[in-house]
Amino acid sequence: MKFGGFVMKYVIITEYACTLIAGLLLFFMLYTKPRKTFAYTILFAADITSLCVSLLTILQTAWQSFMPHTSPAIPALTGGLFMLGYLVLAGLIYAYMSTLTSNDQFFHKSTILTVNLFGVVLYISALAAYLTGRLDVRDALSMTHFVATLGALATLWTVFVIGRRMKHTSRIVRLSFFVFVPLELLILVSQAFSDQWIFLGLSYAIPLTLFYILFHSNPYNEMTGTMNVDSLNTALSRLIKGKRDYMIMIAEFPQLRKQYYLNGEETIRNVMIDVCQRVERVAPTIHIYRMNDNTFALTSVVANEADRKEKLDAVIDAMEGINNFGRYQSYYKAVMIRRFKGVDNLLRLYALWSFSRERLSLERRSECFVVTNSVFEKFMGQQKIRETLEEIRDRKDINDPRVLCYAQPIYSVRTESFRTAESLMRLQVGDKVVQPNEFISLAEQIGAIHDLTRIMLHKVCAAVKALEKGHDFDGITINCSALEFMDRNLHADLLSILDESGIDHKHVRFEITESSMGDQYDAVLYNMEKMNDAGIMFYLDDFGTGYSNLERILTCPFETIKFDKSMLYKGMTDKAMDSIVTTMVDVLKESDKVMLVEGVETEEQSEYSINRGFDFIQGFKYAKPQPIEKLEGYFPKRENQ
Ligand code: C2E
Ligand code: CA
Ligand code: CA
Repeated sequence: MKFGGFVMKYVIITEYACTLIAGLLLFFMLYTKPRKTFAYTILFAADITSLCVSLLTILQTAWQSFMPHTSPAIPALTGGLFMLGYLVLAGLIYAYMSTLTSNDQFFHKSTILTVNLFGVVLYISALAAYLTGRLDVRDALSMTHFVATLGALATLWTVFVIGRRMKHTSRIVRLSFFVFVPLELLILVSQAFSDQWIFLGLSYAIPLTLFYILFHSNPYNEMTGTMNVDSLNTALSRLIKGKRDYMIMIAEFPQLRKQYYLNGEETIRNVMIDVCQRVERVAPTIHIYRMNDNTFALTSVVANEADRKEKLDAVIDAMEGINNFGRYQSYYKAVMIRRFKGVDNLLRLYALWSFSRERLSLERRSECFVVTNSVFEKFMGQQKIRETLEEIRDRKDINDPRVLCYAQPIYSVRTESFRTAESLMRLQVGDKVVQPNEFISLAEQIGAIHDLTRIMLHKVCAAVKALEKGHDFDGITINCSALEFMDRNLHADLLSILDESGIDHKHVRFEITESSMGDQYDAVLYNMEKMNDAGIMFYLDDFGTGYSNLERILTCPFETIKFDKSMLYKGMTDKAMDSIVTTMVDVLKESDKVMLVEGVETEEQSEYSINRGFDFIQGFKYAKPQPIEKLEGYFPKRENQ
């Protein structure tokens, strides 16, 4: 074939095309931010290798066509490299297919074995073909024929090994496999029989492109120019791991959600295109991502604090457009996060975002909350508590040392001594002891509360067992969360812990609040009755804080009613409240309920409580919460001991 005065020995136009494709693919891979999976890493390596292999093929034919007199060592060298390159490439494509069809994130042993086997076969048969004069390493076509034949055999091998795993793959992987294999065979076999055309490049350029488009391409939204969540996560991981300072802004557009569903993508588009383009123009380092219908994220590296401030101001200016958008009133709620030491993974970063967004006001106006050092410190404090709770929840050690069991002795007016105590939980987080108001509701949120109760119960039982040996007391109460009593299996679980300890059932009592009974009254009552039948007593906690349903209180098997301190404090200053307290105590006493008052700190409060007829008094005036082991100092020793 004549080519600009030279005689081209072979037609290699497809090899040029394949080089171009491999180059473009590389560009897309570098410019977009696909999810960094193991398969993606293999594909990336395969693309670079394919670029080299295509270039080597072109070089090889170039020597032959344009410089027929070069020393034979040079084409032999490029030929050898070409063969090595093709081996690596075939290995990578095989490994890629293998990764797609197995859950294993690492190379399968069979993959490594196969690739090595392919290498050995390739080199031995190359040697044999060379020695028998069938392979000319300096001739591009001869090399191509040889490699195509082996490639076809390798493809059949792939069908044999990987095809068997197809049952466990997604439909799209199976489909691409069915397209890939026949196509591959067609290309390789026709290459093996072609005398003038070299198009081996198709055998890898096509599958690589196909795989990239199907599984790894991250199309930008063509209108807004935003990327998706996977890309965001890749970008955020890079920022976190990198050394440079950055800013991340996550902005929600509460109104857009409604508009999106009412009027479709159109509405959102018109505003967003405008805003995104303006924001993007602030600086070339800025990238925008769309997390969902109405949440957008922006990332940028920054040079320093001043640069960040400048960029943030410019971004906020650009976002003003959102406020006057057509006939819809709209606003954003944004959070700006910079680099903080300790935010070293995505989980932490997103946790910091959800922590910070709670600090945004509920006002219907645009607002950007900048996470400061002090907010970050609060977050880290809460984060440590959360992590501790999660660990306790997941470890399920009934003796977990991080759950500290305190107890507050309770004074009996009749005997003028301490007869009971309330156990109170504390949490050991690092070297700090954390109070319940900082972790109880969090524990409820993350589903750890029942694990905490079980541990408390176990520890209270151990303390009771020790006290039963030589002390005179009525019992120790333990607080239970509302949520727990809604589970109909609760009673069995608690009773099994009690029974394992071998203590007298009357020595452990449970406190629940009235508000806990609201939704699932039936289940709560069911659990209470089951436990009551087993000799367990119940205390109604925080009486007087919420609405009270007297009928319910009287129906439930409560032995003691605990008046909240707010009733006490108000009763002492407010006449109307005083008569409510007085009446309540009388009514409840008539129904044989035991009366207990909480929060007694002073002499006057104590006098008032005794005058109104309370049977038990709990408060700092009498005793403070302390480690449960100290209780033995409060309860009298049994005399017959
Ligand atoms: P609570 O059940 O009402 O517990 C009584 C709280 O009042 C305790 O706070 C106690 O230290 C405090 N207190 C006692 N005497 C006085 C006093 O004279 N004046 C004042 N101002 N306060 C007094 P603590 O230990 O911080 O517990 C707070 C809440 O945390 C408890 O309120 C309870 O709802 C919850 N809690 C504590 N331990 C547990 C537990 O093991 N499980 C569950 N689910 N909740 C618990
Ligand atoms: Ca309580
Ligand atoms: Ca209480």
